[in-house]
Order: sequence, then structure tokens, then C-alpha cells
Amino acid sequence: MKSNIAVIGMGVMGSCLALNMANHNFKVAVYNYTPDLTEAFVKNHPHDNITAFYDVKSLVEGMTRPRKFFIMVTAGKAVDSVIESLLPYLDKEDIIMDGGNSFFKDTQRRYEYVTSKGFKYFGVGVSGGEEGALNGPALMPGGNKESYKEIKEVLEAISAKAEDGKPCCTYIGENGAGHYVKMVHNGIEYADMQLIAEAYLLLKHVSGYENFQIADIFNEWNQGELNSFLIGITADIFKEKDDLGEGELVDKILDSAGQKGTGRWTSLAALEQGVNTSIMTSACNARNISSFYEKRQQLAESGLKKVLPVEIDADFVEDVRRSLYTAKIAAYAQGLALYKSASETYDWNLNLGDIASIFRAGCIIQARFLNNITNAYQQEPNLDNLIENEFFAEKVKNNQQCLRKIVAKAILAGVPVPAFANAISYIDGLSTKVVGANLIQAQRDYFGAHTYKRIDREGSFHHQWQKHFDR
Ligand code: NAP
Repeated sequence: MKSNIAVIGMGVMGSCLALNMANHNFKVAVYNYTPDLTEAFVKNHPHDNITAFYDVKSLVEGMTRPRKFFIMVTAGKAVDSVIESLLPYLDKEDIIMDGGNSFFKDTQRRYEYVTSKGFKYFGVGVSGGEEGALNGPALMPGGNKESYKEIKEVLEAISAKAEDGKPCCTYIGENGAGHYVKMVHNGIEYADMQLIAEAYLLLKHVSGYENFQIADIFNEWNQGELNSFLIGITADIFKEKDDLGEGELVDKILDSAGQKGTGRWTSLAALEQGVNTSIMTSACNARNISSFYEKRQQLAESGLKKVLPVEIDADFVEDVRRSLYTAKIAAYAQGLALYKSASETYDWNLNLGDIASIFRAGCIIQARFLNNITNAYQQEPNLDNLIENEFFAEKVKNNQQCLRKIVAKAILAGVPVPAFANAISYIDGLSTKVVGANLIQAQRDYFGAHTYKRIDREGSFHHQWQKHFDR
């Protein structure tokens, strides 16, 4: 019997996705450019619905039309190489999907290229890691709209299902839209993780809670409006004992994280589009500074830092909780503003409510408050910024004093909270009449005759600035 779909790339994610498809009764062809992974996969996971192939021609011949290929290989040249290997054997209407973390501009290029050859192309954002790939990821397919009907059944079947039973998969938009949405999802994930790490620093290093107490605090937070996958696993992490020594494992893990790929791409895209994603960028920068581990140990011992005492009151934990929730709103507001701008820049017609709704299960940023985001965009599809929506505006109004207090305390104590600080600066920047750009325009006109606009009359002005002081 011929296969309905092929998974190409039998690494961690490809193997899990192939099994997920087979478990949903699709006949799955599997292939890897080197035979070893395929052999090991079918040996370790014998399945009636899975057939292994060891050359591209037999693979293509073993599939029903239109053929559907799901490529799950290392992002970059490997994707181009797999596409090239398929093209000589394809018929019109055959569909190539790339489920890896490809850069959206590469997907735009590949979409044009494959479409110009007469075939269909999708970049599919996949979130949820190994576990999600096997049991239900969040999927973000972008590509030829009219061909979505051909892949909808399999993608929706294997995707995670939200509490209301809806699949966490929806058609996103043309060409690179799916991979763009996945990229920004990862930028939001960076921000979410950094905000949680800062809440931990505050609890542990400003107010002195022990790991087992922090575990209980996060677990309690997970019962309320902060409920999310990341808060849940964080509670677990603080309970975990070290398997190789005394105490909890979290204290033995080197305090150094890398930043690469999609998290960094989000900030680069945001700068290019002129959208403020300071919280996501601060998360990249925080990982960056964390990686200077030796330097930090050295300077911490050098006496460079001078801190001030901080008063810890009875509201401290609740203030941190409210700060985390408020900063999270600001981070999502930035991510959604980036989607809105990209939708206009690339003509994708992104549905922000639908995007939030497919993040409700399967993916790393799944969270209860995504329902509130979906509701916000259902009420106001053209909502400019999330914090203008009544529900979120109310939260920001009620909680921002906590965020101000907490950031001030962290700074006094010398505990770095760049994501929290950028969150309150973003809220302040958006809701402040004068932000100092009048002075910047004056400086630009002074040294470069760049001109400025006035608040009281139309037109562009240049002023002959006088030197009033010696320097
Ligand atoms: P992986 O385990 O390292 O597998 C990579 C696969 O790509 C292997 O099958 C590898 O085959 C194949 N490959 C490498 N170079 C190739 C080439 N030149 N031509 C053809 N195939 C080649 O990686 P993974 O974790 O499954 O990730 C695959 C993709 O999914 C990546 O883009 C990743 O960023 C993305 N992704 C990963 C996750 C996650 O949580 N891991 C989540 C979402 C998306 P050989 O081993 O035989 O070289």
C-alpha cells in the first residue's frame, strides 16, 4: 500500500512526528539521506503504518498523489539539499513542507523557487520539542493557501488539542508566514523564560527563600492567572534533588546560557521593522552576559558592585507575582505588535487571535492567559496594542505599582532584572506624553542640520543654534 505522507529526516523531531502521524492512521514513508537513522528507527519502532525507503526515487514512487513531503532536517543548507533531491521526481501539485526552524526569509526564497518549478511549498513552524512532536505539537503552516486543504487533515490530526478540543494548527499565511510566526513564538519564549528567571532571582537573592519554598510559590502561582507550561515545569525544577550530590540540582547547574537562532532573529527582525521588542532583546542580552561566566565571578569578587539595603515587606511575593504577570503582558504585547507589523510589511493578513489560540497547547509558551489574548482580538480584530484592550489595560493599571516597586528593589539590591525593567519602561514609554525625542531632534539639527518638526505649526524647520558655553 502506498504512503499518504513522507517524513524526511529521521533525527529526534522527524522520528517523533513520523510516529505521531502513524499513530493517527496515516500511512507514513520515512527517509533519511544516510540509511543508518532510518534502519535504527524502523528497528526500534516497528509500526504497520510506517514504510522505510532508502532512495528518493523509490520514496516518491511509493506515495499517493498529490505527494506530501514533510522535511525535518537541520535548518540551512540541508533543507535546500533535500529540496533539490526531490525536485526531479515531482509532479505538479506535489507539496513540500519544511518543519525545521528555518529562517523565514529562507522560506520566502524557497517558496518562490519551488513554486516557480510548478510545485507547492509550505514552511511549517513546529513547537513543543520531542514530547510535542510525538504527542501533539503546535503547528504553524504558511504557504500556498489553496493547497492547505491537502495537508490540513494530517497536520490538524497530529497537532495538540486545546481545552476546547480545537487543534493547535491553523493556516497562517503565504510564503514565510508560518516560520515567521514560529520565530516570534521563540522570541516570546525567550522573554517568558527570562522573566521567570528574574522572579526566581528576586525570591532567592533579594528575599532569601529556599528552593523548596520557591517550588511551592511557583506551584501556587500555577493555579491562578499565571498558569502555564513554563511556570509548571519551573515549580518541578526547584523540587528536583541532585542525582550526583547533596541539595537540589538547580543549584549545581552552570549559570550560563546561549542565545542563537530564532530568539536572536526575532530581535533582528524587530529592529528591521522598527518595532520595540525590548523585553525579548533583553532576554537575549541576559543570556549573552550569562555566558561570560568567569568574568562575572571575577568582577563579583572585585568589590566593583556597591548595593543598598532593601526592605522586604509582607507583600513581596505577591508583588513579584503581579510584576511577572504584568511584564508577561508587556512581552506578549511586543510580540503581537511585531506580528501586526509583519502582517502589513509582508501582506500576510495574519489573524492574531487565531495565532494566540494555537499556542494554547502543545507548545512551550502554552498558558491560560492566551485565551484572554484570543478574546481580546475577537472583540477588536484591529487592536493596535494588546495593553489597550480593556481586560489587559485593567491588569496593567492594577499591577504596575508592584512592577515599579520590584524593579526598584532589585536595582537597590544589585540583582539584574533587565526584562522586568524593560517591561515597565515599555509600559511607561507607551503611556507618556513626553519621552525626550524633542531634545534628540534638537541635537540632530544642531550638529547635522537634520531639521525638526514643531508642535505649534506645520513644516520642517532648521535653526541656527548658538554656542552659549565654552567647552
Ligand atoms: P536532529 O536530531 O539533529 O536531526 C537532524 C536531521 O537532519 C537528521 O535526520 C540528519 O541526518 C538530517 N540532516 C542533517 N544534515 C543533512 C543534510 N545535509 N541533508 C539531509 N539531511 C540532513 O535535529 P532535530 O532536533 O530533529 O531538529 C530538526 C529540525 O527541527 C531543526 O531545524 C530544528 O531546529 C527543528 N526543531 C527542533 C525542535 C526540538 O525541540 N528539537 C523543535 C522544533 C523544531 P543525519 O543525522 O544522518 O546527518
